[in-house]
Amino acid sequence: MGDLSENFSWWEFECKCCHKVNIDPELVEGLEDLREVLQKKIIINSGYRCKEYNKKVDGVWDSRHLITDAADIISPGCDSAELCMAAEQIPVFQGGGIGFYPGTRFAHVDCRSKPSRWKRVNGRIVGMPLDTWTMPKELRDAYKGLKKQAMTLEEMAAFMDVEPARALLYVDELARKSLVAKRKDGKFDLLERLA
Ligand SMILES: [Zn+2]
Ligand SMILES: [Zn+2]
Repeated sequence: MGDLSENFSWWEFECKCCHKVNIDPELVEGLEDLREVLQKKIIINSGYRCKEYNKKVDGVWDSRHLITDAADIISPGCDSAELCMAAEQIPVFQGGGIGFYPGTRFAHVDCRSKPSRWKRVNGRIVGMPLDTWTMPKELRDAYKGLKKQAMTLEEMAAFMDVEPARALLYVDELARKSLVAKRKDGKFDLLERLA
């Protein structure tokens, strides 16, 4: 039990330098929902930042971490792509900001009022279009392995060689990109082939 919400406490969101903290309740609610989707705990890598600390970590001048509605998060056993895909399922993050850091275990989420997506490529932050912004190599490869129509989730998981929980995240992401569709009988059809 946290002192901020069911699973989170104030100290987790404190600025790393001065321990000041101020956090938007919307962010905390979103993180609780994300925890539900992941079925795993979430560790706050960076929550609130004061101006000085934001400068020190090379944060952008208008960082949402200053505005108190952002967090950089980690979850045991998840990589950045998996965190981003799960965050897409939470309305407040889907309508807000999600940052993908390929090759790392963390992702950024925030509750800004307009959707924004970006990806770190060769050390630089690159803005991405909403519909195609995250197609991690791993997911691309898994998708290419799919051959059949009318697959069950278990069959897809076997094809992709991942756990069913991760396959479900992949399938949601593929559905968002209109690459698969769920049938009435609960199975999935491939709609398109990737080049
Ligand atoms: Zn500080
Ligand atoms: Zn961040």
